[in-house]
Amino acid sequence: MTDIHARLGLRPIINVSGTMTDLGASIVVPAARAAVAQALDQFFDMGALLRAASSVIARATGAEAGLVTSSSASGLVLSVAAAMAGDDLAAIERLPDATGLRSEVVLLAGHAINFGAPITQMIRLAGATPVIAGQATSSSGWQVEGAITPRTAAGVFVVSHHCTRTEQVGLPLFAEICHAAGVPVIVDAASEYDLRGFLAQGADLVIYSGHKFLGGPTSGIVAGRRDLVRAAWLQNRGIGRATKVGKEGIVGVMAALDAWAARDVAAIRAAEGRALALWAGAAAGKPGIAAAIVPDPTGNPLDRLEIRVDPALARTTAWDLAAALAAGDPSVVVRDMEIEHGAFEMDPCNLHAGDAEIAARRLLEEIDIARTAPVPVHSDLAQVRRDRERPGPW
Ligand SMILES: *Cc1c(COP(=O)(O)O)cnc(C)c1O
Repeated sequence: MTDIHARLGLRPIINVSGTMTDLGASIVVPAARAAVAQALDQFFDMGALLRAASSVIARATGAEAGLVTSSSASGLVLSVAAAMAGDDLAAIERLPDATGLRSEVVLLAGHAINFGAPITQMIRLAGATPVIAGQATSSSGWQVEGAITPRTAAGVFVVSHHCTRTEQVGLPLFAEICHAAGVPVIVDAASEYDLRGFLAQGADLVIYSGHKFLGGPTSGIVAGRRDLVRAAWLQNRGIGRATKVGKEGIVGVMAALDAWAARDVAAIRAAEGRALALWAGAAAGKPGIAAAIVPDPTGNPLDRLEIRVDPALARTTAWDLAAALAAGDPSVVVRDMEIEHGAFEMDPCNLHAGDAEIAARRLLEEIDIARTAPVPVHSDLAQVRRDRERPGPW
């Protein structure tokens, strides 16, 4: 048990779920922690600090310029607002009243995701109206063309495991169609490792979370065209003020970007591979439990271990096994986004020393408890989902 958890009366968590906002995102890398600690008792010309961060972002992404925001969600709102209002200070002050501005934002139906909140709501927060192109299961270029009007301010394109993965217009075609109409393209790549590819494929602005794979403090990054980045920055005189980032977020993400460039990819991959092998070993030979290494769905260089549960043989379900792991002390939280399909994943990207071993031991224990229990456990999935969606007490 850590000091901080003991002091606050909270249960420690072993995160085998990934970079989850609900769990505090990620382990902040030492360089970012040191930078935050140094910055907290200092003053800065915040404009100058943000411009220094712009250079760091430009170096990391190949973009002309960059802006640190309080989160990716905020980065999305400010990017859409930038595409609408540009550097018109009066318009910036009027938002989210978009009278007289281009205010439609084209989004593929398969990209209308919920990352904890609906992305369409982030578009609306800026004062824009989402215009959905295509259907949930497919989209074509002509549907994007048809959705663009003289009132279109931007196209928003999402790269995420949440998106529909089949029969979708890709970024190069989406960008080509938008650009032919003079419409800038904003890419939400909050959880993607690739800092350069989306700009290379035609994004005018691309958004990353500072607190996900980068291991920075809570923050967002907007990278891209200098005029649009500046317009996003100017939003701090308007709606951006409600989500402004502090000096700690800015210096922290600058340090995290530098640390990211210098990281030892091979050593990280090897450590992650050892965790996966340990967990696969714990599951091996257990009746009704099948473990398989699965690649990241959007191509991030990260593998996870899928634990598939056959309730008839394992005498428990994937969701009951995940719940048992989460209910333990320490709480082991697995990745359960597709649990209705009878499997969960274990993600090795956010482990402290010793966490992988504890997670393996807890997995083994809970599999054995289920196997030897007098009655099999089989909770009703619909009820489990209803319970989960119900907001907790305050
Ligand atoms: C996590 C995520 C967000 C939100 O990121 P924050 O930085 O936590 O606001 C937005 N879009 C996608 C695709 C995400 O994965």
